[in-house]
Amino acid sequence: MISLAEARDRVVGACPALPPIEAPLADALGLVLAQTVVAGEAVPPFASSAMDGFAVRAADTAAAPVELRIVGTLAAGAAVGVEVDTGQAVRIMTGAPLPPGADAVVMVERTSTSADGAAVTVEVPARPGDHFRPAGEDLREGDIVFAAGTRLGPGHIGVLANLGLTTALVHCLPVVGVLSTGDELVADGSPLGPAQIRDSNRPALLASLAQSGFATIDLGVARDDEASIEAAIENGLARCDAVITSGGVSMGDFDYVKAVLQRRGGGAMSWMQVAIRPAKPLAFGLIDGIPVFGLPGNPVSSLVSFELFARPALRRMMGLPDDRLDRPRIVAVADEAFARKPDGKVHFVRAAAAWHTDGRLHVRSAGAQSSNLLVAMARADALAVVPDGDGIEAGADVEILRLVED
Ligand code: AMP
Ligand code: MG
Repeated sequence: MISLAEARDRVVGACPALPPIEAPLADALGLVLAQTVVAGEAVPPFASSAMDGFAVRAADTAAAPVELRIVGTLAAGAAVGVEVDTGQAVRIMTGAPLPPGADAVVMVERTSTSADGAAVTVEVPARPGDHFRPAGEDLREGDIVFAAGTRLGPGHIGVLANLGLTTALVHCLPVVGVLSTGDELVADGSPLGPAQIRDSNRPALLASLAQSGFATIDLGVARDDEASIEAAIENGLARCDAVITSGGVSMGDFDYVKAVLQRRGGGAMSWMQVAIRPAKPLAFGLIDGIPVFGLPGNPVSSLVSFELFARPALRRMMGLPDDRLDRPRIVAVADEAFARKPDGKVHFVRAAAAWHTDGRLHVRSAGAQSSNLLVAMARADALAVVPDGDGIEAGADVEILRLVED
């Protein structure tokens, strides 16, 4: 057996970031910047009023109340054709450019306009800088805005649009194919024959991928024969940036996935027995440069293996930096005992975490823990990391992997 860290590093290390492409901003949500973004222009581009009111010279209002002559009106989007001289004011709307000569805006609520509309009385003194937004307040030209490796959220898209950019240089999003294998699998909801079970791995893995922001291709179910498995894998290799299979990688007589990957991947495939439970067996390698993750067949094992190996590797392919690849690990409080026996493996217990009034996350088991029992996985929002030994007592600290999107 090899350690989780060694297996994880071997897998993740073989999956470099996909090449960059120039993507329209409309398609860039969730993708990762492949370049540093530098502001090519100031945001906002000019000083503008933050209020509806009057642009004035602050010094003129020191002895407020004071009457000033209105010399013009500026709406948002209007060109500035007017200046504010001593004793003058310009009526101004939110977003309109601050006219030359003015150094403050008085909000309309602090003013009264004369009956003929020619003069305004400012009731309180203004200070220079009041109620306008200076040019470059958000970004100055030349500012470093976002580093390469930043994953673009809605706010990032807004900032890029603010800079006049219509595209962004981002890493390609991995397209990931998912294949189930097994003669026992029924995938279409039809009645189960003797010895048949439903295919739950493919829907669950496709959903896991979608939730983590990857593009997916459903490669269907392959029968337990080499030709069927090989055809499905070839289809995946032709259409995907990475392929995930489940089943057929353990020690059984009909574990043909191993055989096919061995033949197609040659020396590039590695068969690992990882010192974890669930999800001990893992096949991984590059075929024609495309990562293939041979996950175990048991439903919980396939999802835990996805979390520990495939997801961080795929996140690296999407361009995320090394410290953003894995699920966040934090120390929580075990609200009940996590009992176990020594077996040389780290156990990942499906657990439910909740914040308590002590400011810490507390965890409990999410249900029965066999690797074929999917309900506890569905109810879990964390995996409790129970190291080899005699388990963790109630009330003690326990490290958890939080199954939350970031
Ligand atoms: P295998 O590694 O192919 O021997 O599979 C291990 C166990 O997982 C067996 O009990 C299989 O029936 C089960 N299994 C394999 N693939 C799936 C799947 N796609 N959905 C549900 N169970 C599966
Ligand atoms: Mg099988």
